[in-house]
Amino acid sequence: MKKDQSFEKEYLKLFYEKQNLVFKHYTTTEQDFKEIDSKIYYHLRTPEIDNYRFLLRQYIDASKECSALIAKIDDLSNYDKFISSEAKKNGYQYKVEVSSEMRSDVIKLMRLKDKNAMYFGWNNYADLILAAEGYRGLGLQGILNDFIEENIEEVRKIILRNNISFSSWFEDLDHLAASDVEFDSNKLISDFLTKFGWSVDKKINITFDRESIGSFALQVAENEIEVVVKETNSLRELLTLFHELGHALYYSLIKSDGLNQVLSPSLDEVMAVVIEFISVQTVFDKERDILNEIMLLEYTRCAISALFELDILDDVNDAEEKFKLHYSKLGFEIENPEVWAYDSFRSLDSVYIHNYTIGYIVANKAYSFLQNKYNNDYKKWGKFLTKEIFSHGSSINVRDVFELFDQNDN
Ligand SMILES: [Zn+2]
Repeated sequence: MKKDQSFEKEYLKLFYEKQNLVFKHYTTTEQDFKEIDSKIYYHLRTPEIDNYRFLLRQYIDASKECSALIAKIDDLSNYDKFISSEAKKNGYQYKVEVSSEMRSDVIKLMRLKDKNAMYFGWNNYADLILAAEGYRGLGLQGILNDFIEENIEEVRKIILRNNISFSSWFEDLDHLAASDVEFDSNKLISDFLTKFGWSVDKKINITFDRESIGSFALQVAENEIEVVVKETNSLRELLTLFHELGHALYYSLIKSDGLNQVLSPSLDEVMAVVIEFISVQTVFDKERDILNEIMLLEYTRCAISALFELDILDDVNDAEEKFKLHYSKLGFEIENPEVWAYDSFRSLDSVYIHNYTIGYIVANKAYSFLQNKYNNDYKKWGKFLTKEIFSHGSSINVRDVFELFDQNDN
């Protein structure tokens, strides 16, 4: 079917409208997405969507029932009214208790998304999303299992050596990455961009914020990108900085004024991890080993989380038992498996977390590929990545990138 330019133009308008609302939602006051979601939903409800399958996630999530339930789950005050003040003081106990309150809504949202996917002829939402975002035929589950098998011994060693526990995973990683060195972030970024010959012509605003609920990069207009990095005063902040820069860099290097400038969520995430990984190997020196350990820990955890998610697709009744089983691979005994439902990757951003691990796998492949091909001539690395990946926007997908770096693998 021939692509319809007025369809693209109108969609782009709605896309940037929503991005701006999301930005406000994250940085200033809570926003109501009902109206914009409904506009997006009705705009995408056309056979034309067959030309833009990477928009199916947006389409389903914007449907009336999904959008309402997503808004409810996104607001923790809907679930924590009856939670003891004791639990509120203890981060993990809070998650466990909120999770129990949320569980039924999370499952309801899973089923609602499945119902929408069935309408398109798929068994469930996961199958539809994986196909729409370029994973078809890649054998995701096998890749994730192989990755865990290959790395789990090393990961367990790092966990034991650093006394990391499941209930304080993120705090422990921050501890592991503690640093009293002050980094000049602007200089780090400009050195990195210069090294790879990337000149960014869209405006990228970078804000560091201790109070931010998280870190993100959002394209808010055709020529403007907002990056917010949560200040942690640990080396993890630098990983995050280069990760978000990876998103921003991608948005800024796309050569398209049409819908190709809206990325498939999967390739967007994968390439952010690629940039994060490459920056660690090329910008940092003394910190490199510890940053590599943190990435390995995090992306192994993501692989386990993704396999757990795929495991509860058909039957969520014994999710707690399965949760224990999957996370025991890290060497943990899980005491409160009901915490699974708290994770936003089970509800708001379901069928997404695998992208981080796949990004890490692609990053390793890309790194040795580029090293073999161009040695340390980083300007050529930059040129190659721009020409083969970034400039194409959403006209290529994860599978294309996987195959690109497989060519010279041997
Ligand atoms: Zn990201």
